[in-house]
Parts: sequence; structure tokens; C-alpha cells
Amino acid sequence: MDRMKRTPVREQSIAKRIGNFNEVSLGYNEEEAITEANRCLQCKKPMCIGKCPVNNKIPSFIKAIRDNDFEYAAKIIAETSTLPAICGRVCPQELQCEGGCVLGIKGEPIAIGNLERFVADWCRENEIDFSTKAESNGKKVAVIGSGPAGITCAGDLAKIGYEVTVFEALHELGGVLAWGIPEFVLPKGTVVKHEIDNIKKLGVKIETDVIVGRTVTIDELLGEEGFEAVFIGTGAATPNFMGIPGENLNGVLTSNEFLTKNNLMKDYRDDYKTPLVVGKKVAVVGGGNVAIDAVRTAIRLGSEAYLIYRRSEAELPSRVEEVKFAKNEGVEFHLLTNPTEILGDKDGWVSGIKCIKMELGEPDESGRRSPVPIKNSEFVLDVDMVIMAIGSRADTKIKDTTKGLEVNRKNLIKIDEETGRTSKSHVYAGGDIVSGPATVILAMSAGKKAAKAIHEDLSGENK
Ligand SMILES: Cc1cc2nc3c(=O)[nH]c(=O)nc-3n(C[C@H](O)[C@H](O)[C@H](O)COP(=O)(O)OP(=O)(O)OC[C@H]3O[C@@H](n4cnc5c(N)ncnc54)[C@H](O)[C@@H]3O)c2cc1C
Repeated sequence: MDRMKRTPVREQSIAKRIGNFNEVSLGYNEEEAITEANRCLQCKKPMCIGKCPVNNKIPSFIKAIRDNDFEYAAKIIAETSTLPAICGRVCPQELQCEGGCVLGIKGEPIAIGNLERFVADWCRENEIDFSTKAESNGKKVAVIGSGPAGITCAGDLAKIGYEVTVFEALHELGGVLAWGIPEFVLPKGTVVKHEIDNIKKLGVKIETDVIVGRTVTIDELLGEEGFEAVFIGTGAATPNFMGIPGENLNGVLTSNEFLTKNNLMKDYRDDYKTPLVVGKKVAVVGGGNVAIDAVRTAIRLGSEAYLIYRRSEAELPSRVEEVKFAKNEGVEFHLLTNPTEILGDKDGWVSGIKCIKMELGEPDESGRRSPVPIKNSEFVLDVDMVIMAIGSRADTKIKDTTKGLEVNRKNLIKIDEETGRTSKSHVYAGGDIVSGPATVILAMSAGKKAAKAIHEDLSGENK
């Protein structure tokens, strides 16, 4: 065995996958997982654990895989993570756990994400379940939002006896995991549903189609509804626009609209009646995970798809694996390019996108070199649909209806980083509504911290 090289992961062939919405990566089988686990050096001072935002005991679960004890591996992961099949698929491991693996210095780091995914999938397929319902302590906690932050907070509290109710604005649970990340990255009917069902098995009550700030307020939850604490995990998914001419033309969509129609309303499936409107030539503007998901969705719907990003490939904020997939699937990358206007035809539909070439100048406040337009470099790309995926921001409904809840100038909720406590007593927050758009694992980590603080405060354990 070459310890420096990873065990390859099987994938759907490119020709096949661009014609379907099935998962691209097929994951490891038992033999492949054991082979990969055998590469782990079992470091005495493992760097991978500290680089994982929920501190998964990585070497221990890898050792259990090596010992052919997949159930024990799953038990170890379950101590720290409620959503392993999801994290194994969508975490930016190259920047986190795998970034800390010493094998990465001279060779390829252990495929920790793929091993985590293997264990979680194995458990699901073998119907192994660690969710045991705790005896109620009689204390009611409300969780607003069913994304990774809310679900994690709810699960951790339910495990120790709290009566948790999750209030979700949509009809479907999971937040971005349900409406945003496409089926070919994260299967909904199996993976997402299973991990959310596990939370329900812990006794968590669910109320969908409830918009806190409209249907009910936080003050009402803490008052007449009898909740002793409220966790806000509402994400930050209100889409941004560039503010360029032509954004109101027919055929300009936000990535939220496009991805929601595909994921929740299943407009790619023949057995669903959602009307399918997709351009022949689609330009997606942006460079994050959202943009890559949108552009890969467009390819699967039969479009010629372009990605327009104002910086270079080195600055692309999306996961490395997703960029590789997008390239293989035929997405045309227009890097160092920025749109200046969306052009329309006489009927008000998109007919092209005017762009300007960019070069990288001095670093900006984010530390990345800022893109600067190159004079006289404008050109027009012939497209009939434009999808804006240039980031999102916080909604203000909860802020506007909750007395004493402090937010910053971007309407993100201010908290104590260690505990998730907000400026309002008995109210906690975490995930994208605090950090701005970030990652699944960071949202989970915030949900965990808040659950711990809620327990400390309600049980008096910190006094
Ligand atoms: C398309 C897309 C792809 C992504 N890909 C990745 C990836 O590959 N890897 C990764 O790590 N991260 C990825 N991310 C980011 C990641 O999904 C988010 O950081 C994460 O989901 C944030 O979790 P959250 O729980 O804070 O919020 P969300 O997941 O946004 O969940 C918030 C929930 O709260 C609900 N809600 C909002 N307001 C209210 C209200 N007033 N009342 C009741 N409910 C409310 C929403 O409907 C939603 O269900 C992606 C994001 C998007 C949009």
C-alpha cells in the first residue's frame, strides 16, 4: 500500500451524471473504507480533531473502521455529531480536519470526509440507531429554524430531557440542506430525511409553516407559550443583487429561486407539475458553493452553462471537489470577469450579459486581492438566463419584532461567541444568522454551544 495516496472514491461517469440528479460521488464500500483507514498514522497528538469545528474523535473512529467495527465507529461519531452523513458529504474538509492531517504534508491526507460518510451510510443501511428518548425534565425550549444550527441545538437538548419544539417557516425541514444543496451533492429522500428523522425520534416536536416574527413572536413564545428559552437559527438567506441595469428582466433569477424550484418543488422530475423554465444558455454569477450548485444544476437541465466570477480560480470560495466536478461536467468558467449590465430583447427577456475583464489589485478587508476592472475590456456573452448567486443576508422579521435583541449593521444577531447568548435574556442564536453565510459544520457547532449554554442556564449548573 502506498501510504501517501488516497483510496480513490467511485463516481458516476461524467456522461451519465450530466443527464441525471443522482449523487455523483458513490462513496467507499467496506473494503475501500478499511484500506483508507489503514493509512491513518493514529497520531499521538492528532491535529485533525482540533481542526474539526465539532471536535469529532477522528483517529478513534478511523481505528474502529480499521478494526472492522463500523457500529463502534458510528457510536464514536454520534458523541459529537448529529449529522455525519451530511457533514461527510458537504464539509470543506480540505480546510478543516483533512487540512490538519500530517499525511497531507508529503502526500494526500486521509479521506476523513469519505470515511465519516461511509460510517453514517453503513449505519443507515443497517438500521443501526443510537437515538434514545430521554425522560422529560419538564422544561420547554423553542428552536426557530430547522437548518443545521437549529436541528443540532434541538437534538442536543432533547437528548438530555428538554421538551423541544422546532418552528420552521417552510413546509420542509432542513434549511439549506433541503432547499439549497442539490440532490446530486446531498440526497434528500435518504440522507437528509434520515438524519432529521433521528432528531424526531428523540422526541423533538416539529411545527412547519410557522414564521416567527409573523405567526408568533419570540416574546409570545417566552410568555404565554411557556417556553423557558429560545434558540434562533434562522440562517441568512435573503438574496443579494448586484444593482446593475437589467436585473429586473424576465429570465433573471436568484440562486435561491432556481435551487428551491429544483430541490423542493422538484421541477426536474417528470412526475412533478412545477413548470420548468430554464435557459438554453445560462450565466451564473458568483463563485461560492451556491453558484457552483446552481451552474451544475443548469447543466443537468440541459443548458449550456457559464460561471462568471470576478476573481481568479485561486480565490474561488467553493469546495475544491465541486469546482473539479463542475469543470468535468462542462461548465465554462469566465474568471476575472464581472457583469456590468444584463441585456434584454424587445419582449423584456434576457438576451445577453455585458461583462468587463478584471485583474487583481491590492488585498481588501477580507485579505483577498480585490478585483479591478480593466479599461476597454467589455464584451457580451450571449445568454437567455442569468442566475445571481452573489451572497445573501439576514432577514429582519425577528429583529423587528423582538424587544431588546441587538444586531449589528448587517442585521446579524450579536452573541457571546462561547455560549450563543444574545443581548436578550433566555434568547440564544447561532449559525448563519450570527456569522453571515458560512458552513454547515460551523452552524452545527454554534447549535451545540448554545444547547450547552441553555442547559447550564436552565438547570442552574453554571451558578
Ligand atoms: C446552495 C447552497 C449550497 C451550500 N453548500 C454548502 C456546502 O457544500 N458545504 C457547507 O458546509 N455549507 C454549504 N452551504 C452553507 C450552509 O448550508 C449554511 O451555512 C448552513 O445551512 C447554515 O445553517 P443555519 O442552520 O444557520 O441556517 P439555514 O440552513 O439557512 O436554516 C435556517 C432555517 O430557518 C428557517 N427560518 C428562517 N426564518 C424563519 C422564521 N422567521 N421563522 C421560522 N423559521 C425560519 C428557514 O426556512 C430555514 O429552514 C451552502 C449554502 C447554500 C445556500
